[in-house]
Amino acid sequence: SATRPTVLIPGNINARVRERVEAEFDAVAIASADASLMDAEARAKISGIACSTAINADFIDAFPNLSIIASFGVGYDAVDAKHAASRGVMVSNTPDVLSDEVADTTVGLLLNTLREFPKAEAYLRAGRWAAEGAYPLTPLTLRGRTVGIFGLGRIGLSIAQRLEAFGLPIHYHTRTKRNDVDYPWHDSLASLAAAVDTLIVVVPGGAATEKAVNAEILGALGPNGVLISVGRGSTIDEPALIAALAERMIAAAGLDVFADEPNVPQALMDLPNACLLPHVASASVSTRNAMADLVVDNLAAWLDGRPALTPVPECAALDRKPS
Ligand code: NDP
Repeated sequence: SATRPTVLIPGNINARVRERVEAEFDAVAIASADASLMDAEARAKISGIACSTAINADFIDAFPNLSIIASFGVGYDAVDAKHAASRGVMVSNTPDVLSDEVADTTVGLLLNTLREFPKAEAYLRAGRWAAEGAYPLTPLTLRGRTVGIFGLGRIGLSIAQRLEAFGLPIHYHTRTKRNDVDYPWHDSLASLAAAVDTLIVVVPGGAATEKAVNAEILGALGPNGVLISVGRGSTIDEPALIAALAERMIAAAGLDVFADEPNVPQALMDLPNACLLPHVASASVSTRNAMADLVVDNLAAWLDGRPALTPVPECAALDRKPS
């Protein structure tokens, strides 16, 4: 109808987001977040954006009546939320609804990395069990490990709770110590890495965590060390990790995220002690549906004059009071 707000979808997005946006708003789609794909009159009609792609300051400035950017995913490092906030534009993300799924995936990736289950299955499927006998015993195990969680937020805490049930001691590093957990806190990543042999990285991407996991941190984990990375690829110094795995400075790594997705360095793929997943930590139908609904529910609430459901911290001050 003529009274419905207009919502823009730049680039690819989850199918349920697209269907609901088309059903509940006047929907406009463009191939990528490039403002030159629309004329000024079309841009002036846009009041909401639903996105799963990078949104920079210039793109935000191209929409004079923009009111909300609803980003798909909990990590929103690709959206310039500070700039949006300075322009009075709300930014929402999709926290909590994916935390259990991502934590489950992290435990699976950790076990696959240590116990080589993907390789053992490939061995069976290749007929080698029958032809050659038992799969070789794995040098690595979860037993006896001490886990360090870099980023004990919503997902990190869900991972910690699972690994506590596995009987493992947990340490963590965040900028601010949590007062609701008893796990030992470390005031630096270097201190955490020195105290543990298994480092799980689940901090947000962005400048503050860029290449934080470098050669020094990997060296501190030691030759039995294992790195699991499920936050953002930008947080790992990938060439340093490749060298550490090749030289056995650490024992193994499990990665769901990479510096230049979907391109994974051949050197990483060639390493037998790297266990690699194509950014699937939250990628079940049910969890992605819950994320999709939260994207559209944020748009619907905000464009109807109500508070956003899940505003990002940079935009919390813009939020409306519940009536
Ligand atoms: P939260 O904001 O709840 O947690 C982030 C944690 O990281 C907090 O404990 C925070 O503590 C800590 N942190 C942030 N910056 C730093 C820093 N510079 N140094 C040390 N610690 C830091 O986020 P979630 O747990 O919900 O999500 C975490 C991230 O996981 C997302 O941002 C996303 O990038 C990634 N992710 C990846 C997925 C995948 O598919 N692989 C799926 C979902 C999420 P403090 O502020 O005190 O430092």
